[in-house]
Amino acid sequence: MPQNQPQTQQFDLVILGAGSGGYACALRAAQHGLSVALVEKAKVGGTCLHVGCIPTKALLHAAEVADTARMASRFGVEATLTGIDMPAVLDYKDKVVSRLYKGLSGLVFGAKVTLVEGEGRLEGQPGHTPAVVVGDQRLTGRSVVLATGSYAKSLPGLDIGGPVMTSTEVLALDHVPKRTVVLGGGVIGVELASVLASFGSTVTIVEALPRLVAGEDEASSAALARAFKKRKITVRTNARFSAAERTGDGVTVTLEGGETLDADVLVVAVGRGPVTDGLGFEEAGVELDRGFVVADRRLRTSLPGVYAVGDIVPGPQLAHRGFAHGLFVADDIAGRNPLPVQDLLIPKVTYSSPEIASVGLTEAAAREQHGDAVQTYQYDLGGNGKSQILGTQGFVKVVRVEGGPIVGMHMVGERMGEQVGEAMLLVGWEATPADVTPLLHAHPTQNEAIGEAMLALA
Ligand code: FAD
Repeated sequence: MPQNQPQTQQFDLVILGAGSGGYACALRAAQHGLSVALVEKAKVGGTCLHVGCIPTKALLHAAEVADTARMASRFGVEATLTGIDMPAVLDYKDKVVSRLYKGLSGLVFGAKVTLVEGEGRLEGQPGHTPAVVVGDQRLTGRSVVLATGSYAKSLPGLDIGGPVMTSTEVLALDHVPKRTVVLGGGVIGVELASVLASFGSTVTIVEALPRLVAGEDEASSAALARAFKKRKITVRTNARFSAAERTGDGVTVTLEGGETLDADVLVVAVGRGPVTDGLGFEEAGVELDRGFVVADRRLRTSLPGVYAVGDIVPGPQLAHRGFAHGLFVADDIAGRNPLPVQDLLIPKVTYSSPEIASVGLTEAAAREQHGDAVQTYQYDLGGNGKSQILGTQGFVKVVRVEGGPIVGMHMVGERMGEQVGEAMLLVGWEATPADVTPLLHAHPTQNEAIGEAMLALA
């Protein structure tokens, strides 16, 4: 073979990116007996495992422990919070991640998936099977799955570095900043704001839109804003970032209109963009729209034989969505004719304190679709025994079509994320409140709040 000519290896399936979407697809395809190459430039597990869901939730748990200690006297327990040992918190978080990483690596190895380490690029020519090229290896597959995920975006003129950080750098902070400005009041922004406030930082959130977590029902946004106010987290909505200037060891943020905010750390949480640039996608014939891969309901791209999964496909950027995409594509390639993943039925949880959980339509979206035939009921957790024991406020809000099914559920309160499973089944199965009322919810649980809301509606 002439030198510098890539060596070709043939697989049934070549997957580019080993995050939630890519590794799920690889494992399921291997179960179907397909030969699989999984290409990864960093670590199997991707964003969620290494710099996303898992490490942030570990920090949020440490934050909950800090709040529990801080508020122990409310429960008659004598405890004092003397400080946060950030290196020890990071150690705890890293141990959780590395245990899961070890387990996942073992699964990939055990499934006989060929893991190819390195940065891959798509290559396709009309009439030829598409391939992924990694260094001097050329991997051709009957099918190729693009699963390259997302990156933390910034704003024009706002360079990441030093005190200006994205979620990734926050996860490695070895001290608690005295003052933090969080740019962006979406899910990642409010979760990090919640953690840092619990650790003792004075936090200000700057959000350009009129409310926090704007993708959620307005009632959830309002409840979160009220709870954050009580926690002394300052929320600046309708506030637009103008500039940031590094000072001695901090940063001064200027808002449009000229107001300035001084901080030790500026967390930039303004959304995540698709990782599709410079990877040969468009050249090979894969259509992109503002960087995202255009895919149909069955996740097929415009290039025959090439699929896309996870965060590069427009829609909610969630690990369980990417995972479900990966399983779907593997099943589809194996001829199992699976049902496509429906974005509307994907449960969403924001793990701040308090938590927000939801599935289905917001009240506003339901009214757009069904007009006046929409009925809502909001059950206050003030009437729920377990929530009173925990000392949390919040609600369960049900959105239904009058005389018809439940089309949306929205919940706020400590630990309410755990209730999203039942909400997902009710919306997914198009249950009516009357279907649910004969079924019992255990006492005393926060789960009863769902039962109470159904009783009221039925
Ligand atoms: P990724 O997980 O981003 O994986 C893509 C992989 O592809 C990466 O490993 C990358 O290294 C690799 N790659 C990219 N380009 C190449 C290339 N050219 N060659 C080889 N490899 C390549 N979701 C939830 O559901 N729950 C949460 O609580 C949650 N919390 C989050 C918190 C934070 C701070 C962040 C940032 C995200 C969070 N998410 C959460 C979102 C979740 O992490 C993503 O939705 C999920 O990781 C998307 O999976 P993916 O497979 O599409 O992409």
